[in-house]
Amino acid sequence: MIAAGEVVERPASVVKELMENAFDAGAKNIIVEVRNGGSTYIRVTDDGCGMSPDDVGISFIRHATSKLHDEFGLECIATMGFRGEALAAISSVSRMEIISRERGSEVGTQLILDAGEISEMGSFGCPEGTTVIVNDLFFNTPARLKFLKSDRSEASACINTAIRCALGHPEISVRFIRDGDEEFFSPGDGKLDSAMYSLLGRNETVCMLPCNSSADGISLSGYISSPSEGRGNRAHQFFYVNGRYIKSVLLQSALEQAYRNTLLSSRYPACVLFLNIPYGSVDVNVHPTKMEVRFGSEKTVFDLVYHSAKLAIESESRVDTLVEDIDFDHSEKAVSYETVHETKTGTDALHSPQAPYYNQLSLDFSNLSQNPQNSPVSSPQSPYLGKNVEKPVQNVKNSDISSYSIIGEAFKTYIIVEQNNELILIDKHAAHERMIFNRLKSQSRENSSQYLLSAMTIKLNPLDTEIVEQNGELLAELGFEIEPFGIGEFIVRAVPADMFDSDIGPAIEEIIEKIRGCSIPDPDSVKDEILHTVACKAAIKAGWLTQKAELDVLVKSVLSGEILYCPHGRPVSVPVTRKDLDRLFKRIL
Ligand code: ADP
Ligand code: MG
Repeated sequence: MIAAGEVVERPASVVKELMENAFDAGAKNIIVEVRNGGSTYIRVTDDGCGMSPDDVGISFIRHATSKLHDEFGLECIATMGFRGEALAAISSVSRMEIISRERGSEVGTQLILDAGEISEMGSFGCPEGTTVIVNDLFFNTPARLKFLKSDRSEASACINTAIRCALGHPEISVRFIRDGDEEFFSPGDGKLDSAMYSLLGRNETVCMLPCNSSADGISLSGYISSPSEGRGNRAHQFFYVNGRYIKSVLLQSALEQAYRNTLLSSRYPACVLFLNIPYGSVDVNVHPTKMEVRFGSEKTVFDLVYHSAKLAIESESRVDTLVEDIDFDHSEKAVSYETVHETKTGTDALHSPQAPYYNQLSLDFSNLSQNPQNSPVSSPQSPYLGKNVEKPVQNVKNSDISSYSIIGEAFKTYIIVEQNNELILIDKHAAHERMIFNRLKSQSRENSSQYLLSAMTIKLNPLDTEIVEQNGELLAELGFEIEPFGIGEFIVRAVPADMFDSDIGPAIEEIIEKIRGCSIPDPDSVKDEILHTVACKAAIKAGWLTQKAELDVLVKSVLSGEILYCPHGRPVSVPVTRKDLDRLFKRIL
């Protein structure tokens, strides 16, 4: 009755199966350890319910499972495992040791198996819970051993698998040890954002948009990336159905369709999305490793993901409409499951083309709302996510960049930020200029120079020519790569990073003027003067449209205290307190 197939392809598959058993056992804490990419040693220890001596004795027998009691159970599977295959499959191709003590029991049991045959079994002193150790995977199947990749790539496959599993269970703490060193540790506090932070890292956690909603008994919760933060591939998409990590073309295309017109076509959104579906409405028994599922109603699922993601993206942009002129084309034909489905063919087609229920369901998505209460594992006001956030790790001086929000931009010149009891007005050009200036001053030339796509020629009069020729080293230090190219002509191959093409000629002229004007050449002050010029030319200008993400970077630098004045000494930000405003309006005197 089960989708048969090989479940143990490589060490990472063992890690997955053993972790899933620990989840099913109700563990709160799991430790996973691998050595040599898992090929010589994999250990998974949990503090779950454990097994009685009798159960230990049969747990490794093919199709022995405690999770199904009859064939009807197959129709509503609430556990990660249900086929009783994993321990059987793993033990038959390794030297396995199971140590387990049932909760409330006096003593534990140890079982040692050699290629699936019992070699030792007896009572054993151990804490409650289960430890499974897999030594020398594939030692008796040389053909499969040969197919293992290097220890390094098997280890990273194990880590990726463990991350996927752990991310699906933020309520369970997972520690991963590789060759004696801790690779990651998730706190198990039940919050999706802390799991994301510890498993995926800071960059994959901040700036994500909460995405929560429900329809027709199915709930969706999690985070998706802001359109300004596209990724180069799909490796950052994590979909879970009832806590199980799955691959699904349906979910992937529902998500990606929601970003249409907001994300470049070569970029992909990131997500950590949880679908909670009634057990009877999803079939997990269609794939040997349970990596794919079949949805009862693909249309419901598609529409839920698509509309919720679109809502999250649009509400972000509504907050920023003062800042960014993104034009969502509301007149476009709404994307639906059918339009996507029609265009898919062959191998790219969705898993179950015969889903029977499309036409019976009509969902009113006008009622679909951001519904944070639905989220089982995350709080929308999480401390690490969204834009009004306190970032946990900040490498800044004053580091007072807690809870600010960008209200908008006035005259395409001044960024208006609300923070605590103040409005802070920031001159975006001055702030950016200072940032570039600081970077130019602190970075080596290689980092701050940028090759032009097509080299550019400039014409100079004989006096200027002389200055450029005499100051080649200084110009190089600034990030310019300039070579003579005939009489009075130069070819420019590289310029300081961020400089716009149209500014290159004027910047060089200004630098020449500065060098010429310096009668007592103090190299350091000439350099600073020139850096001002470069920074000024490379900075965004007042009156330009600026992307929200760029404004955010500027605001962060200013609020962190990194930037106070522009290189010319003008202030970069001006605070207006709430009191000032209250006085202006005579609320207080
Ligand atoms: P399945 O998970 O599909 O039931 P497995 O071969 O993975 O099959 O495990 C067989 C049985 O062994 C499980 O049904 C369970 O009763 C028991 N078992 C395995 N691992 C654990 C564990 N970590 N804690 C408690 N019981 C376990
Ligand atoms: Mg299992």
